[in-house]
Amino acid sequence: MTYQSVNPYDGKVLQTFTELSDARVESALDTAATCFAAWRQKSFAERAAVVAKAAAILRVRADEFARPVTLEMGKLIEQARGEVMLSADILDYYAKNAEGFLAPRQLTPESGQADVESSPIGVLLGIEPWNFPYYQLARFAAPNLMAGNVVMVKHAACVPQCAIAFETLWLEAGAPEGAYTNLMVSYDQVNRLIDDPRIKGVALTGSADAGKMIAGRAGQNLKKSTLELGGSDAFIVLEDADLDQTVEWAIWGKMNNTGQCCVAAKRFIVVDQLADRFLDKFKMALAALKPGDPMDEATTLGPLSTESALVKLLEQVKRAVAKGATLVMGGDRIDRPGSFMQPTILTDIEPGNPAFREEFFGPVALFFRVGNEDEAVALANDSDFGLGGSVFTKDVARGQRLASRIDTGMVFINHPTWTAPDLPFGGIKNSGYGRELSAAGIQEFVNKKLVRTAAIDAAA
Ligand code: NAP
Repeated sequence: MTYQSVNPYDGKVLQTFTELSDARVESALDTAATCFAAWRQKSFAERAAVVAKAAAILRVRADEFARPVTLEMGKLIEQARGEVMLSADILDYYAKNAEGFLAPRQLTPESGQADVESSPIGVLLGIEPWNFPYYQLARFAAPNLMAGNVVMVKHAACVPQCAIAFETLWLEAGAPEGAYTNLMVSYDQVNRLIDDPRIKGVALTGSADAGKMIAGRAGQNLKKSTLELGGSDAFIVLEDADLDQTVEWAIWGKMNNTGQCCVAAKRFIVVDQLADRFLDKFKMALAALKPGDPMDEATTLGPLSTESALVKLLEQVKRAVAKGATLVMGGDRIDRPGSFMQPTILTDIEPGNPAFREEFFGPVALFFRVGNEDEAVALANDSDFGLGGSVFTKDVARGQRLASRIDTGMVFINHPTWTAPDLPFGGIKNSGYGRELSAAGIQEFVNKKLVRTAAIDAAA
């Protein structure tokens, strides 16, 4: 495994890092376990001071934190800044609300007294992807640190500078050594960490393949895991949708982060009456995007995260076409240095085509026409994934009725699926299990402990 920053805008290698030796991993784990013993005893106010300080640092130095995101994985600089601020919001949210979320709850049993306490469980391992190099870390670290757990993170190999910046942030914010540890480790070392009795839970955000490996290993060790995996979200357009605004959201939903979002709109399902007009406007808007340096504020189409991600996506498109899909636009790399892909639309994707069930992670839209809303729901649900989805209609009540029939973890009406600190995030089916963010996210790795007080002469 090579932990390496390569700028996908020009292919230049920026920095290479060596993996930790087994001895360094052991000492980091030891430090984390020692840290947990003290960190769990801190009050919520003491932990909140550290987490809120980290948020304040992110806000004040947003430009500095945004730079490595753009350099390492090609995110447009304005979006990188947005990600830094969103991460700060998540930190602040948990600093403010964790104590309330984890307050002991009194039950009302038939007799005597019963309370449920929420206590931390120990050192957690997070395995995180490159597409939101800070937001993913914030989602995992903030609730768990506030709950009194400590975290170790294996970040994606292509964003090592972001991984280091986020670890340094915690030390600057006053977190004790071992509260947040970045680990540049191999898959084999990840497996051994999961086996180690000091690790009490594992959270993965990534692909379904990684999910099977990591959850399988955690299961063998009887350890709790959460999985935030891929998606193939439906973007449903009903005949009464506002066409211009819907197309604007379609572009955002598809092209934000150059299409490399788990909840990017991936399958555009448009009712016949609007399908041709939607497709025309969608094509025009995609064609108007300007490729260029993601550091330049004027650029609207950045490169993909890595050359290998681009090659994989190009092959996927080629395979889809070989199996019968029609290329409406794009399909190729952009003729310039760097890992740029043309915005692409595929249609005529029949159920036998592998593209029908795959996730396309980049600027590739799958376009489907349907006769009515029932067909739209049936098609949306005919997926191995179940992450997000959206419905566009002027009739909000109708949109909500449709949302209730869609089998995913999240559905948005008149907005592509997106995220906020106070909204639960997660999916079903091959999109994983468990939730991050909101009140739900902080409950995943705590012991909900029953304390029952009975009269000593109570019946058994
Ligand atoms: P990936 O290959 O699964 O990588 C994700 C993380 O898992 C990386 O840190 C990777 O390390 C590590 N990893 C992969 N296989 C592993 C193994 N066998 N043992 C230990 N670690 C392993 O995912 P990706 O393709 O980079 O990321 C994109 C995927 O993530 C998409 O499917 C996307 O939809 C999904 N995603 C989901 C969410 C969500 O919240 N549901 C959010 C963002 C992304 P290396 O980098 O070293 O390989």
